Formats: sequence, C-alpha cells, structure tokens
Amino acid sequence: MKLVGIELWRVDLALSNPVATSQGSHGPRPVLYVRVVTDEAEGWGECGALPGGTAVDPALDDVDVAVAERAVPRLFQAGASRGGELVGAPSVARLFGEGPLERVVAATIEMAVLDAELRSSATALAERLGAVRAVVESGGVVGIPPGRDPGALVDAAARLLDGGARRVRFKIEPGWDTVPARALRTAFPSAALLADANGAYRRGGTDDDASVLCALDDYGLVCIEQPLPAPDLAALGILAAELATPIGLDESLGTVRRLAEAIRYGAVAVACIKPSRIGGLLAARRALAMAAEAGIDGFVGGFFESGLGRAANAAVAGLCGSSLPGDLSDPADYLVEDPCGYLEVDGGAVRLTTAPGVGAAPDSAVLARLGAVGRWFPYRS
Ligand code: MG
Repeated sequence: MKLVGIELWRVDLALSNPVATSQGSHGPRPVLYVRVVTDEAEGWGECGALPGGTAVDPALDDVDVAVAERAVPRLFQAGASRGGELVGAPSVARLFGEGPLERVVAATIEMAVLDAELRSSATALAERLGAVRAVVESGGVVGIPPGRDPGALVDAAARLLDGGARRVRFKIEPGWDTVPARALRTAFPSAALLADANGAYRRGGTDDDASVLCALDDYGLVCIEQPLPAPDLAALGILAAELATPIGLDESLGTVRRLAEAIRYGAVAVACIKPSRIGGLLAARRALAMAAEAGIDGFVGGFFESGLGRAANAAVAGLCGSSLPGDLSDPADYLVEDPCGYLEVDGGAVRLTTAPGVGAAPDSAVLARLGAVGRWFPYRS
C-alpha cells in the first residue's frame, strides 16, 4: 500500500457522568484520531490518552504534539526507505521508544496502520488477532460518589448490573475502602466485585495500610487492583502473600516486560491490559498470551474511549488470555456524543464485528458538527 498522507483530527468529546477516582476526576474527554491514507485503503486510529496525565500515562496534548511533530515524519521516513510503502503494523512499535509517551504514540499509529491493512485485505481485527470467541463480556466501573455516600454507590452499581454488566469495578482510596466493599457486598451478594485503588495505599513506615487491605478479604472480591504505586513490584509481591484477595495490576503494566517481572515477583493474579498504554493492540495480544501461559487472569481495561478505540479493545478481549469481563460498555453510556458508533451490545455481551478493519470509524459529518479540527500531512517521496 503506497502512502498518500496522514490526517490528524482533534475533537472535544465530553463524559456524561464524570468518574471520581483516587487520582482525580474526569470530565472533558477530548480525543485525537489518526487517519492513514494509502492508495488501496485508509485506516483510523484512536489515541487513548486522557486530558490529564498521571505518573504513568501521558496527557493527550503531549501525545498530540509528539504524533504531529515526530510520529508523522517517522512514518514518512519509514515509508521512504520502503519505496513509499506504508510500514507494516508489526513494525510500527519499533519506530518508537519504550517510554510511556512513545508507547501511546505507537499504539495510536499502529491502530490506524492495522485498520488500513485489514480493510485492504477485507479482514476483521478479531480474526487478525486470533480471537477465540465472537461475543465478549463487558463490566462496569463506578467512581467514588459525591460525599462518599454508600447509598449513591449502591444505586450506581445497581444501574450497571441492571444494564447487564458482568462485574462491577469500584474505586477505593484510604478512608473509602471497607465501607463501599461492605455496602456493595451486602446489596449484591453474588456479584463479581473488583476494588480499584489506583495505587493509593502504602506499605512500611508510620502509615502502613496492610491491615485495611487485609480487611477487604472479608468481601469476596475478584481482586484488589493496583493497591500500591506502579513501580513497587517487590512490595506488591510481598503484599500478595499477605492477602487472601488476589492482587490485580493496572498502572504497573506499562510494557509486556513489566508484566513478566510482575509474574516473577508473584505480584499479579489479575492483569488489566490497556492496549493504548502497553504500546498497541499487538503488544496487548502478547501480554494476554503471557498471562494465559502463566495461569493468571486477564482483562482489557479502558480509558473512556470512543467507539473506535473501544471496538479495537473488544477484539483484544476475544483472545484466550482475556478471562474476565473488560471495560467494554457502549461509549454511548458515558460520552455525551460518540462520533464513531460501536458494536452490537446486548446487556453485558458485546458481539465482535466480522466487518473488515477495527470495526468502527469516526463519521465525518459528526466530526464537523462537533467542531473537530483536522490537519493534513501529505506524503512526498
Ligand atoms: Mg485501574
């Protein structure tokens, strides 16, 4: 496929219900799309970065600059060294470094390149990745309710479960942990519940949180996700031996190599894999294969993507290493408007598409109506 050019689209989407976590709350949801145009097909990629960066994830504005100023020229250089051919999706990650920003950039570009390849060969993403199921399970997430009101938390979880969510992941932080766990377990005796701490607890020193984390053992949780900060794999391994509840890792899993280290430390029983963070759909596939090989559970996590990014994540959730429900609910549930549309969802069941490509793309009329700004970079050999 001969490169014709690359277009970047920036659009301001918004979350209909901001989600509070121990790391702050999300409201606006601007999105960057990349459109790779070739002489045979075009492909779309969605950037997963959120407007506010964290210790492990870059902010969208920084990714936007890196894509426009570094990734586009690099893709063009790679094309020039191939006689104008678009670089193959498996080679995209090698054009970029291993840092958090570079991985998100690589993931965004790789999705667009893969989408173009798949459309050109009339292949669906799920088939290309080797999905083992046609329908994947979706779970829901509830934030910390205003005023830390357990009643509001239970109501929010009830809405998710009534809508078909196959599990409820709820946010915890010091001072808001056993209360929500007890409220949810009492209201939903048999529901699959995950507590997500976003790295908010500490071990050692004067404020050791081991006892409060151990107290969560009473509530039959699927796991406590990221109880300690991302870098502390050794401490997470020690904590895992002290808790009856399995430990899940999310922010710690920035690369496939980090997952291998976490497995070696005994620090992970449930791996939350986010394709955008780990460097792309193909890296996510390697991570889930590693999880399956190690006998640990895996699921696909999300960043409140629009329908394009989420359809890509759903295809990844079809892989055998994805053993638990993922963050795959319909973006219409949390975005005021989704320019892409999504897959067929029936309650908590998401049907993977057999159409060529990732399975969703932004509608240009909707982008225009939302005031999206496009930038076109023509390829010149
Ligand atoms: Mg998490």
